[in-house]
Amino acid sequence: MTNLDPFNEPFGSIFSDNYSISYYSNESYSYEGHSTKLENFSVHPGAHGIHYSSNCFEGLKAHRQIDGSVAIFRLDDHVNRMRQSLTSLQVKPPEFDLLKKMILDAVASNVEDTPQSPGSLYIRPAFFGTLENVGAAATPTTTGSLYVLNSPVGDYFKGGIRPLSLFVEESLARTTAQFGMVKGGANYALALGPTLRAKAEYGVDQVLFANNNDVTETGAANFFLVDDNKLITRHLDTSFLHGITRDSIIQIANDSGFKVEERTITVEELSEWNSEAFLSGTAAVIAPVGSVIIKGETHSFGDGQPGSNTLKLRNALTDIQIGKSEDKYGWLTKVS
Ligand code: PLP
Repeated sequence: MTNLDPFNEPFGSIFSDNYSISYYSNESYSYEGHSTKLENFSVHPGAHGIHYSSNCFEGLKAHRQIDGSVAIFRLDDHVNRMRQSLTSLQVKPPEFDLLKKMILDAVASNVEDTPQSPGSLYIRPAFFGTLENVGAAATPTTTGSLYVLNSPVGDYFKGGIRPLSLFVEESLARTTAQFGMVKGGANYALALGPTLRAKAEYGVDQVLFANNNDVTETGAANFFLVDDNKLITRHLDTSFLHGITRDSIIQIANDSGFKVEERTITVEELSEWNSEAFLSGTAAVIAPVGSVIIKGETHSFGDGQPGSNTLKLRNALTDIQIGKSEDKYGWLTKVS
């Protein structure tokens, strides 16, 4: 068990002692059936994952429940998304039950690392191609490592719940139109340049990608507008990540009487929006957005402070995650 305080260390920089790992070869995965001690890999310098980005990952969380037990949020949906990412990399995905077991084994062996809410145990399934062949740019990896790491975490954005500022990027896409829904490492590398430039130039927290006058998502979270009556977010297509938090919020909002609109949001609509805005993601949870910079001009939402609808949705979500309100959607999988 780690003694480091996740609220005093960068998100994702503390690792639990154990992990689960399986090896992909001949279109199947071999797993010993239990977690083992986390140790460094030995990787051939010609590995496919290093050269040709045959890698993908997931991000989900185990939450300490108010009764002291631990439960994973929307485990099955994350398993399915990881399998879909692998399919997009032209790698045969593991059986659903195998990846689910690997995640449960890892979390069970690190369960005492799960902090109290608002902390959690972040779960990082990952795959990378190990085929030793630098000539294999045009063929998929035929071997790989699939594993599940755990990391006790506190807040993703420094300073807890505070209004974020976003730069609206109108020319560059976060990634490509067909690969945005894949949780592959290359997508994150593509978003880095525009994000660092906007941070340096405008001092913003994140970039909101809106090329072709189409507001989609930031580098690692989905985007919402909300007022007292309605919730608006981009409709699903292959251009951006289909957030599982996004889906959870839509279900909660529908059941709380909001009119949910999944559709295109234009930059003009954003610049005229005077109610609330927020980001959503496993790491970000629901993070209020106070202002956006559009064509060099700052536009604040409302009084620029976290709004009541945003906080209401956030509480509804986190109450389910920690077992404070009923799990009526069946989103929790008990670990202990
Ligand atoms: N968009 C991107 C690019 C992300 O990396 C994430 C985080 O996983 C999200 C959106 C939110 O997805 P989820 O709610 O499933 O964590």
